[in-house]
Amino acid sequence: KKPVIAIVGATGAVGRECIKLFEERNFPLNDIKLFASSQSVGIKIPFNSDELSVQEITDQSLQDVDIAIFSAGSEVSKKYAPIAVSSGCVVIDNSSHWRMDDRCPLVIPEVNAHTLDNHRGIIANPNCSTIQLIVVLAPLHNIGKIKRIIVSTYQSVSGTGQKGINEIEKQTLQIFNLQQPEVTIYPHRIAFNCIPHIDSFLDNDYTKEEMKITNETKKIFDDPAIKVTATCVRVPVFYGHSESVNIEMENKITPQQARAILSQAPGVCVYDNPKENMYPTPLDATGEDLTFVGRIREDHSIDNGLNLWIVADNVRKGAALNAIQIAEHLVNNDLLTIDNPNLFL
Ligand code: NAP
Repeated sequence: KKPVIAIVGATGAVGRECIKLFEERNFPLNDIKLFASSQSVGIKIPFNSDELSVQEITDQSLQDVDIAIFSAGSEVSKKYAPIAVSSGCVVIDNSSHWRMDDRCPLVIPEVNAHTLDNHRGIIANPNCSTIQLIVVLAPLHNIGKIKRIIVSTYQSVSGTGQKGINEIEKQTLQIFNLQQPEVTIYPHRIAFNCIPHIDSFLDNDYTKEEMKITNETKKIFDDPAIKVTATCVRVPVFYGHSESVNIEMENKITPQQARAILSQAPGVCVYDNPKENMYPTPLDATGEDLTFVGRIREDHSIDNGLNLWIVADNVRKGAALNAIQIAEHLVNNDLLTIDNPNLFL
């Protein structure tokens, strides 16, 4: 039987990409229902040859739904995911709320799809910056055993959702019209600027975004000992996050070997020929499913170290696509049964 699908947060950047992907990938579904807040009731969104109306999410909305993809922020996931699961609906959550909960697998299908076998109703999608990092590092980790990761991100404004895109558009227009740019979403102007601050600061002076990368990497690799340190920077780019990554491994992998390993890796495209000016940029990754890697070179300051440059579409592989790949895995492997529907209530 084909599943009934719901998208919670259907009017947002990630929700709209999910709708596009269900259509593009010809996902076998019986029905698709769209939910958002009360302010979006009645908004129409095209799907195949239909137009679907957005409804307000309520306690009853997901009663007859088999799979719900949540992209409406942590508070909505916290409140409605347990209710959904209690009526037999499997939740795939894009917010950070359930990611570190031991009952919820944190899944990148190319890397740890096996953790879906024992899911209990809520499945978490990792942070966008974590997904693209781990898709590329997992195949190297399997062979070289990574001991330490140093990552600096260059994250696009679409990572903040539609409001981030609106902010940079408005500021750019204001600057070109010689007006004072209004700063509303970020703590500083983002147009023609970089801001080393994503999400809020914690007591250890890292941001939440930086600690998400650290903690989620340990959970996905099932390796609490792996060392990870991150610096996350918002840059004036519309779509696509980039990452400068340094890894230190137990076993040596040369850049040539790394290129060979990664060119066989699922979900990865090696785009690396510096002599021809070939390295991935966010523009190359926009609208693409693959995670791109280039600038692969030896870190000659340590033994067994490599530097890499990793780029992916944050709204797509960083959120919507990863969630839909999880849904496809659940359907293809008959994994839609929930043993204890009241677990999260
Ligand atoms: P967005 O463009 O701001 O969209 C937010 C969506 O959530 C809208 O559909 C909004 O509906 C809905 N929503 C907000 N409050 C709601 C409420 N109280 N009840 C019901 N619906 C509500 O944000 P986004 O970028 O798509 O992000 C959505 C989620 O995905 C967030 O949890 C985010 O952390 C996560 N995520 C985003 C990215 C990314 O690259 N953008 C990557 C990974 C994860 P209205 O239009 O009705 O307000």
